[in-house]
Parts: sequence; C-alpha cells; structure tokens
Amino acid sequence: MNDLKLLTKIKKPLTIDNITFDNNNLVVIAGPCAIEDYDSLFQMATLLKENGIHFMRAGAYKPRTSPYSFQGLGEQGLKMLANIKEKTKIKIVTEITDISDLPLYLDYVDIIQVGARNMQNFSLLKALGKTNKPILLKRGFGNTIEEWLLAAEYILLGGNQNIIMCERGIKSFETSTRNTLDISSVPIIKQLTALPVIVDPSHAAGRSDLIASLSLAAVAAGANGLLIEVHPNPREALSDKEQALGTNEFLQLNNQLQGLKSYLNANNIHNNF
Ligand code: PEP
Ligand code: MN
Repeated sequence: MNDLKLLTKIKKPLTIDNITFDNNNLVVIAGPCAIEDYDSLFQMATLLKENGIHFMRAGAYKPRTSPYSFQGLGEQGLKMLANIKEKTKIKIVTEITDISDLPLYLDYVDIIQVGARNMQNFSLLKALGKTNKPILLKRGFGNTIEEWLLAAEYILLGGNQNIIMCERGIKSFETSTRNTLDISSVPIIKQLTALPVIVDPSHAAGRSDLIASLSLAAVAAGANGLLIEVHPNPREALSDKEQALGTNEFLQLNNQLQGLKSYLNANNIHNNF
C-alpha cells in the first residue's frame, strides 16, 4: 500500500464540535434510511437527543437499485434536516449523490456521507477534499480495503482531513445476508491510519435480526462507532424496511453497545495495539 502517503501521517483524532472519534468514545449515528416526513423525523431527532445520541442519519437523495423505488425527497428533504438540526441541535449525516448539490450540503449538514456506489466518484472526492466538512466515506461493495483507503487519500490530497471510514459490507457468494460484513477491515484500517472507522451493520446484513450481533462484534473489533438504520415503524418504511430497527430495540441495543465499550475501556482492551 505504497500510495497511502497522507493517510499514514494523520496524528490527531477527528473531533466534531466536542465529540471526539477516539478509543474513549463510541459514536452512534442512527435514523431512518430516508427522510419520509417532517413530523416523524422531528420526533426521531428529539428521541435520539434525549437518549444521548448526537448524530442522526436520514437520506434526502436515495440511490436506489430500481428507478421505480422511492427516490427520496431531494432538496425539500435537506431543508427539513436543516430545520430539525436548528430546533433540536442534533447533528445531521446525509448522503450526497450529485456534486452539483454540494453548496446545499455545506450549508445544511454536519457530516456528508459518500455512499458505497460513489466511493470511486473521483471528481466528487476531489470536490469534497477542498471543503473542510467531515466526510463519512462508505466502502464500495465491490472494493478492496486498499481501494477504499485510496479513495480517502483523494479527499486528503485536497486538504480535508476530516474523514470517517465506514465499513458497510461487501458482495460475496453468501445469500443469507444482503452483503457480507468484513469485520477484518476495522483492525486493518486502524493499523494503517488514525482515521476513525465505523461500521454500518444495517446495509451489511440487510436484516434487522442480525443488527445487534454485528454491532457488538464491531465494537469488540475496535470500531469507533456505528451507523444504524432506525425507523419508528419499520414495517412501513419506504426504503430498507427489512433492516431497520424499531426505536425501542435500537435504544436497548445502544445501552448494550455503550456498556460493552465501557467494559473494554475499563479493562484497557484495544488501547495497546
Ligand atoms: C445508506 O446509508 O442509506 C446507503 C444507501 O448506504 P450504502 O451506500 O452503504 O448502500
Ligand atoms: Mn438504507
């Protein structure tokens, strides 16, 4: 991995406002796959905030496999996010799918997500490199760890060091899950760079019954955080309903994850390698 020139030089952990992505902390990002309507999203943000979750995810522009599936609310959705952010103070994570929308994202969101399908959209990566917005860079489902790291290197080359790597599963021959969660990418990335790495068990598994196990495994493997799809009524979700947790299930899981993280820290597990 000779070309990981800037990645290996990063020294400081990423901090967004007062939240640091380091080993002391487990940063959980939760929320629905897509923005569906204002009221339910506002309620979600309020609930998350009340329970100590600082970041909410929700897609405005949805890259769907089928053109006939729900495509998201677009700019109207981004405006809802901005309004909810202002009212609740929750921090917003949402995916960009088109470089021409960048000015809106710079105004409205806290972390710009680059989805699996855009991990090697190099003009987008270069444009994001010229901003100082935190970027959540998902692994492409057909990409190696090296290709993913080189995508981060594109962003770094523009001067932006605020990057979160997000493992979301890769395609394999296995059909029991939507993708195969490559948990080994967590320690590998941590060996190579100080960039934080988080895990998205929702898109990896594609089924809600596996989210708890995969999330706990991610924390045990040293992930700095998780990105989890949560919906007030998963069965009615307009996208990715099979993988969304209900709000109570999610809050219970979050307690377990924070408990596991505290245990690891109290026993000094992970901090020595
Ligand atoms: C998402 O987070 O909603 C999403 C589309 O994820 P991915 O790019 O990993 O498929
Ligand atoms: Mn989704």
